[in-house]
Amino acid sequence: MILVLNTGSSSVKYRLFSAELETVAKGLVERVGEDGGDAPDHESALRSIMSELDLDDLQAVGHRVVHGGAEFTGPTVIDDEVVAAIERLVPLAPLHNPPALAGIAVARKLLPGVAQVAVFDTAFHATIPPEGVTWAIDAELAARWQIRRYGFHGTSHAYVSRRTAELLGKRPGEVNVITLHLGNGASACAVEAGRSVATSMGMSPQGGLIMGTRSGDLDPTVIFHLHRVAGMPLDEIERSLTRQAGLLGLTGDNDMRAVQRRRAEGDEAATLAFNAYVRRIREYVGAYAAVLGRVDAVTFTGGVGENSPQVRAAAVAGLTTLGLSLDEARNEAGDEIISADGSLVAICVARTDEEREIATQTRAVIGDR
Ligand code: ADP
Repeated sequence: MILVLNTGSSSVKYRLFSAELETVAKGLVERVGEDGGDAPDHESALRSIMSELDLDDLQAVGHRVVHGGAEFTGPTVIDDEVVAAIERLVPLAPLHNPPALAGIAVARKLLPGVAQVAVFDTAFHATIPPEGVTWAIDAELAARWQIRRYGFHGTSHAYVSRRTAELLGKRPGEVNVITLHLGNGASACAVEAGRSVATSMGMSPQGGLIMGTRSGDLDPTVIFHLHRVAGMPLDEIERSLTRQAGLLGLTGDNDMRAVQRRRAEGDEAATLAFNAYVRRIREYVGAYAAVLGRVDAVTFTGGVGENSPQVRAAAVAGLTTLGLSLDEARNEAGDEIISADGSLVAICVARTDEEREIATQTRAVIGDR
């Protein structure tokens, strides 16, 4: 059996898989460390999870870790050195890596002798060529401070691109796919023959597409201006651009369902936000078609991508010159393949499953030992 743990700052999500990757149990411990929450700290959260599960046949624990920097390019069996390396990456992911480290520490303590594996959100993007991860700034500064694109949502893009190949009856190595993970966070990825060659998030999950509360791509001068001219301290600017921006910043609602409802009622702010959201997606689809040269499929996933026919339709409307032609009825019905017969590029909807992908990668890496 394989236990997958996704330890966030105030929650622990878990899922227990059989050796054949059937889901045996799953759950969520919420508001960890908060008054009236399910657990006072990560250790007691994990203790209560483990006391409920039958872990006699446990082969490994797979931990989701957001940032693997340039160092981690695949799933990694955890030892003291790996923990130290993840700790060194905390400045790159100050919100995300510390809770994952807490989960790893507690799991190692409570389950000694069970293999612990780190699966990084960044790792799938290790195959992006240098010109795709390099920003044109002072090269010495960039090297000294590890400034480059890393990309995120890698487990989702990996899973969904493989699933797309399956839907098309091909092997992953035979297809080029543009994957669009549209959830609270959102990112696009160009996958060439199973390998990521471009992605929209950058050094943090802040860049690229418009998200629930994050701005996505911005001219960096916006930050200088807010600091110098508007007099905002840097922490406040960061909070604004990461938690008060995106759909929330434009409309007051971070949920695409609410934005769509208001748009249907003729609300101007919601209409603008929806149009800006889908336009950014189209810009990336066009850009990644140019990166890939040949595109076999565009695949939607994540809460918005899986559930919003409106967003899917608007994102690919009129892209017949790129070979994309949507079948309205299939799109509305929520089919897995929603392109029209004869569309040169398939348009797909795939339900992402990051926990399953973490379990798959964990099983693969312990099998190799
Ligand atoms: P996360 O990124 O946190 O894993 P999800 O991938 O589950 O989140 O995406 C959550 C978002 O999906 C919600 O905030 C909501 O905007 C959007 N969503 C869910 N259902 C629908 C729907 N039927 N139509 C449009 N958007 C939806």
